[in-house]
This record gives sequence, C-alpha cells and structure tokens, in this order.
Amino acid sequence: MSTFQAPKGTYDLTPPRSATFLAVREAIAAPLRDSGYGYIETPGFENVELFARGVGESTDIVTKEMYTLTTKGGDQLALRPEGTASVLRAALEANLHKAGNLPVKLWYSGSYYRYERPQAGRYRHFSQVGAEAIGTEDPVLDAELIILADQAYRSLGLRQFRILLNSLGDKECRPVYREALQTFLRDLDLDEETRRRIEINPLRVLDDKRADVQKQLTDAPKLRDYLCDACKAYHEEVRALLTAAGVVYEDDEKLVRGLDYYTRTTFEFVHDGLGSQSAVGGGGRYDGLSEMIGGPELPSVGWALGVDRTVLALEAEGIELDLPYATSVYAVPLGEEARRVLFGVVTGLRRAGIAADFAFGGRGLKGAMKSANRSGARYALVAGERDLAESVVQLKDMESGEQSAVPLTEVAAELAKRLG
Ligand code: ATP
Ligand code: MG
Repeated sequence: MSTFQAPKGTYDLTPPRSATFLAVREAIAAPLRDSGYGYIETPGFENVELFARGVGESTDIVTKEMYTLTTKGGDQLALRPEGTASVLRAALEANLHKAGNLPVKLWYSGSYYRYERPQAGRYRHFSQVGAEAIGTEDPVLDAELIILADQAYRSLGLRQFRILLNSLGDKECRPVYREALQTFLRDLDLDEETRRRIEINPLRVLDDKRADVQKQLTDAPKLRDYLCDACKAYHEEVRALLTAAGVVYEDDEKLVRGLDYYTRTTFEFVHDGLGSQSAVGGGGRYDGLSEMIGGPELPSVGWALGVDRTVLALEAEGIELDLPYATSVYAVPLGEEARRVLFGVVTGLRRAGIAADFAFGGRGLKGAMKSANRSGARYALVAGERDLAESVVQLKDMESGEQSAVPLTEVAAELAKRLG
C-alpha cells in the first residue's frame, strides 16, 4: 500500500523541531510588537494582478515562481509569493493611512508559495515574518526596521549574519543611472535572456551570480556616483543612525531590488553558515508601490525575514534555543477511581493556569513514569487506592526525586506555590 507524502519542495513541521519554528516566529515578532507595530493578516491568495503590479512583471517571482489558478467562477488568483503587496493592499482597503497616524506600522507572519527548484533552504512553501511601515519618509524609520531585525536575530543568539546595505536612489536620480547602466551593459557579451533583462530591469543584471557575468561588470557605472544630493543625505543619515545604534553593516553597491518603485534604502541579511541560500531576510524602501497599485503617494519601508532559513542558521551555528518544557505537572493515576479523581485535579490545575498532562490509557506505573519524565514536567502526581482512601496524592519532585503526600484539597495551591 502506498502512503501519501508531502508535495515536492514542502515539508511538515512536527514536534520537537516545530517548537523551534514557533520560537523563531515569536522572537522576530516580539521587538516589532514592542515598537508599535500592529498585527495584520491577509488571505493566502490574491488577485493575480496585484502581484503582477505589486511585485513586478519583470521579476522571477511573477514570471516563473507564482502559483496561479482560475477559480470555478473564473477569477484569476495567485497563492501569495510575498507579503508586501498584500499588506499594502489591505492597508489601503481599510483606509488605515487615513486614520491620521502615519506611519501605519504593521507586522505579519505566514506561509508563502513560490514554484522554485527545491534545494537546501529553498522550498515551494516557506514561512516569513515581515514588517511594513507605511506612509512616512524618514531615515529613522529605515534605521528602526534594520535595528529591530538585528535585535531579533541577536535575541535568538545568531552571530554569523551580516547586514548588507545600499541605496537605490529615487525617481530623480535613478532613471539617469539606469540609462547609463543600460548603455554599458549593451556592449557586453551576454546571453539572450540577460540582454532582454537589460531592457526591462537592468539593475537585476548586477545581481547575476555567474562568474563570467560578474567579471564583465567590474567597470559598470556605480549607482553611488549618480545619487542625487537628497538621496545621498538620506542614506548618510540611515548609516549614521545604524552606527549610533551599534549595528554593524557593510555597504554593498551590488545589492539591488530591481523594481522601479523600490527606492533609496535597500538591505539584506545574509548568514555565512548557509551555503548558497544565504539570504535570511531582506527589505527596503518602496516609495512608489502604493501608486503602482492604485493608492495615493505613500512612501514606505519594510522587510521580510525567512523563518525556515533562520532555523537553518540556528542549526548551522549549533544554537539550541532554551525552550521551556510545555508541561509542569504530570499526573499518574493507579486504578479506575484514581483516574477520575486525578483527571479532575488536572482539569483544575489547567484552569488555574498550571500546565498539566495526564497518563492516558490506564498504563502501569513504570510506563507512566517514563512518560512523566519525557514530558519534562517538574512534578508528578501519583495516586492509588490507598492515597485516595486518605484523600491525598503523592507529589513527586522529578528533579530531586523527593516525594510527599499532599491533601487533595491543597494540591493546586501547593503546586502554584512551588512553581512560583
Ligand atoms: P533568494 O535570493 O534566496 O531567492 P529572495 O530575494 O527571493 O531570496 P525575498 O523575496 O527577499 O527573497 O524574501 C525574504 C526572505 O524569505 C529571504 O531572505 C529568505 O529567507 C526567504 N525566502 C525567499 N524565498 C524562499 C524559498 N523559496 N524558500 C525558503 N525561504 C525563502
Ligand atoms: Mg528568490
């Protein structure tokens, strides 16, 4: 008989590893929540047109990686390949930007889908936590987001990551650079697809990973030499703010997000223990995106961090998160009557906010105590007929092995006291 397997390029999160994923999501979300970012959740699919416009017709994401579908009703939808376009769409739809409190700061967490060639760190279903700050142009905001991502990674214990930083200019200076770059690139020895890219999305060519392409790019015009004074000043301010915050970054001229509405600040987090899928997160300013999807001018900045690759980064650095055991108390009944009584005790403990579990299935003492051990519970409650006759349970400290009889009526209070 054949059994089902997870689809190609996907995997399941199962205990105990799944606990690390939850902890990573939480670690990334915590600094955002503490900094005024509100939680937003959007559908797992959108009208395909939103991504075509909001991610860009010339990107790999839209041309190659999107899962699209036609509904029975004839709607053209796509599973979301990224979060920014959806979040901005939702913010505009809810008029969050008109509530008089800019920037609108939002964070999200969820599943994303890209039809990619599966390999280590690259999946067809993956998980991101992201943040967007909508409606304000202020270098402090760009710095804030980079600092919060750095803080999140550090809180997980990660050390072998680097922050790459660049500025892409704005609608004044970038078109001039774009043309200069195109003129340079057209003279190079490149394949057909790359030649097409020169016309649609020349900045992306700088991002080409192939050595023979990179070799030809040594003398390519540098965006830095084309930045207008306003963009230069803005970028210097972001850099100064990061330095003042003690956040180390590297200037990386080749770092691009090749879309016309990505502007100014752009950054990526790379981890040196991950091999070729080294980007654990990325983001930047997208001052033109709102208008691209039919909204007003809303200069914004955001990032998305990949949860899967962050977990791989933890494993690469040999970091084991200090996750507290889920269960504090484990109840072991001996006999029918004890089952009813102890289950009542467990229910009471849970209602009192004490994490408790139970030896189900009427197992013997030995097997049940093994489960108690495995659960990581600090205390076991054991009761048999003789205990019940005296209206007590045996409370065992799993660490010291010490055991004492506690009256049934006092168990909850005693455990609450001991667990602090
Ligand atoms: P890459 O260059 O590796 O394809 P990207 O530029 O497409 O990355 P973004 O769109 O910026 O990635 O997404 C932000 C983060 O989401 C990435 O840094 C990465 O950690 C994660 N991510 C993106 N695509 C995948 C994927 N297919 N599988 C797992 N994680 C992914
Ligand atoms: Mg990609």
